[in-house]
Amino acid sequence: MSSKMLKFVVTEKAMPSKRKADARVADFDEIYDDFNVEAAETQASRCSQCGVPFCQTNCPLHNNIPDWLMMTAEGRMQEAYELSSQTNNFPEICGRICPQDRLCEGSCVIEKGFESVTIGAVEKHITETAFAEGWVKPAAPRVELDESVGIIGAGPAGLAAAEMLRHRGYQVHVYDRYDRIGGLLIYGIPGFKLEKSVVERRGQLLRDGGVHFHLNVDIGSDITFSDIRKKHDAVLVATGVYKARDISTPGSGLDGIVPALDYLTASNRKSLGDEVPAFDDGRLNAEGKNVVVIGGGDTAMDCVRTAIRQKAKSVSCLYRRDKANMPGSQREVQNAEEEGVVFKWLSAPQAFLGDDKVSAVQAQSIHLGQPDATGRQVPQVIDGSSHDMPADLVVKALGFDPEDMPKMFGDDGLSVSKWGTISIDWKTMMTSQQGVFAAGDIVRGASLVVWGVRDGRDAAEQIDAWIMQQAEANAPRRAG
Ligand code: FAD
Ligand code: SF4
Ligand code: SF4
Repeated sequence: MSSKMLKFVVTEKAMPSKRKADARVADFDEIYDDFNVEAAETQASRCSQCGVPFCQTNCPLHNNIPDWLMMTAEGRMQEAYELSSQTNNFPEICGRICPQDRLCEGSCVIEKGFESVTIGAVEKHITETAFAEGWVKPAAPRVELDESVGIIGAGPAGLAAAEMLRHRGYQVHVYDRYDRIGGLLIYGIPGFKLEKSVVERRGQLLRDGGVHFHLNVDIGSDITFSDIRKKHDAVLVATGVYKARDISTPGSGLDGIVPALDYLTASNRKSLGDEVPAFDDGRLNAEGKNVVVIGGGDTAMDCVRTAIRQKAKSVSCLYRRDKANMPGSQREVQNAEEEGVVFKWLSAPQAFLGDDKVSAVQAQSIHLGQPDATGRQVPQVIDGSSHDMPADLVVKALGFDPEDMPKMFGDDGLSVSKWGTISIDWKTMMTSQQGVFAAGDIVRGASLVVWGVRDGRDAAEQIDAWIMQQAEANAPRRAG
């Protein structure tokens, strides 16, 4: 083993520096800096080069983490990049926004007692170095194939599949109802976690590699699903999940109560320089307002931190369980707390008050009762605990469900699960329709970027195998 490694016993874990809270709330830029060369090498050298690397097992992409950490520690950056990009289409994005504490870093064996290797930050550093050095190149297939693949959805799942299929020489056409590439990477996730230029850089590379994008095209209304199927040899559905879960509390129809994605999309569009009337007239702008965000997932964390940056008067997050039981990342809660967000754990809305417009949230306190069949403690209202919280803007961040896919695509033969996600055979990634594949959130339900990339890659491999199999089956039999 390289003498550079195993330094966790003498070197402490260090994260890239984080901007101070009062400086970072003044803009929408990322809050973490990149490692410099020395810090990346030093942090990578903490890895103990496990024979059975649990970090790799628990990375959805099974990234070859120990090897690229060793190469980084030894200053072999180009090799580290070549290796890391073999298993991940967007390492600089995953390095920034994967919940590493639940994936690779949470499984690092030196986590106990010494604290994990900073895998995500090193992964980001490797790819940022590669971009700076000009090592990141667009797809350049050795042969151009006649067969084409239509991909519906330009989020991480669709884009990962597009890149893999282009490498193999397919004619790749990506359709999206948005006007920009990236799906939730561009309009959902705020710039303080993932700057928009990082997503746009990937979009440009895909264009340079020959992927055709058809934007502002809604499949199901602008072009029918059956037309897309006729146009292409295979189709990948990677449309994500967009039906916001709602709340039926009294007063929920009042003005000033908005869905999280409308709120975040407006903010992201403003950062991108778009005109956003609903922001400019104040409906989706938190400035000067008392803001209450309902929910405890990553979307809620993004909303509260966006409201702080929009200069809200106060920002509270209402969640019916406690901090230990919230679905969002603990790292993001800490960032939000540092930035001035007030968390009201064990609280739930009972009613929204106001005449036409919301003026307060009537909340009640919760206590966690006995676990239910799933093992989670059931939230129970504490009698007489009602209290009012002033609110001029309420953001509902309660999660997302799939839209009605068979209806959207006018195709009753497309099988869906009881949750409305598209059903696939996980071995082939194919749906109930021949030649139609699916990947990402529309299959898994609301999930993670890294799982979208994984599914996109798997789907590309299966689409290639299927098209080749079809071509072979249809080839004229050789005489004799
Ligand atoms: P999406 O990214 O949703 O992309 C689907 C695309 O399909 C969209 O561009 C959409 O416009 C398009 N589309 C849909 N229907 C049609 C149609 N009929 N015709 C044409 N186009 C269509 N994950 C993380 O790993 N880390 C995070 O920090 C994180 N933060 C998040 C914050 C927020 C606010 C949200 C909402 C999600 C977050 N996630 C995070 C989850 C992550 O963004 C998703 O899991 C991931 O983007 C799913 O990828 P996808 O390609 O399946 O779908
Ligand atoms: Fe960790 Fe995500 Fe990178 Fe995998 S892709 S190594 S889980 S940061
Ligand atoms: Fe290195 Fe930790 Fe992975 Fe072991 S689990 S190979 S120490 S990063």
